[in-house]
Amino acid sequence: MKPLIAANWKMHKLPSEVTAWASDFEAALADTDRSRFDLAICAPFTHLSALAAALDGTGVAVGAQDVSSHAEGAYTGEVSAAMLKDLGVRYVIVGHSERRAYHHEDDALVRGKLERVLESGMTPILCVGETLQEREGGRAREVTLGQLRGALEGVALGNAGGLVVAYEPVWAIGTGKTATDADAQEMCGAIRAALKELLPELGGAVRILYGGSMKGDNAAGLLAQPDIQGGLVGSASLDARSLAQIAAAC
Ligand code: PGA
Repeated sequence: MKPLIAANWKMHKLPSEVTAWASDFEAALADTDRSRFDLAICAPFTHLSALAAALDGTGVAVGAQDVSSHAEGAYTGEVSAAMLKDLGVRYVIVGHSERRAYHHEDDALVRGKLERVLESGMTPILCVGETLQEREGGRAREVTLGQLRGALEGVALGNAGGLVVAYEPVWAIGTGKTATDADAQEMCGAIRAALKELLPELGGAVRILYGGSMKGDNAAGLLAQPDIQGGLVGSASLDARSLAQIAAAC
């Protein structure tokens, strides 16, 4: 399975900074064999037009970080899946732990968002993962697989490329604490087994990413694990060279 390295810029950068970042990224990848991995940059809504223009012809996909669970209508401030698709967006992050924690997104809402993304023919990057308290309480699997089932049970998927799952232990996000290769593999292996149950035909071929303080110096070990097919990269993706270094580790 070809790995996917997806950047998650979160609420960083300005739209006017996108073009320079994209050309720095191209330069940083100049000596890397790009056929080994897929790339996506998930940016704030305001940046997506500029990003689509800057990445045109590079093979790097444009991604969004959120979407409305409604298809269309009187929902002030919301952005629909069709609007994203119309801008050339290919991937949409749903259920990121920051949205679950700070915007009170529950499994039902995440599922609604995931369904809108699928209906529009884009690929959701479904984020799941436990907090430190849940891990220390021995509930890492239960919580993570519960989020997975909550979003996916009964969902019809056209093909395995239509879904990406990101395992992001909350305690590793933005903290500089990365899960060990073995811990990440153990959880991603459990996610793989659950995906095979939930999506009998396709679950074995869905890409599972690891996210949480992935950096140039720890990416190779994580990406070598049998059930990890890429990374969702926050902090390290803000710098074009750091992101290129992670991709080169694929
Ligand atoms: P991080 O963020 O790489 O800064 O830990 C990852 C994420 O939240 O997607």
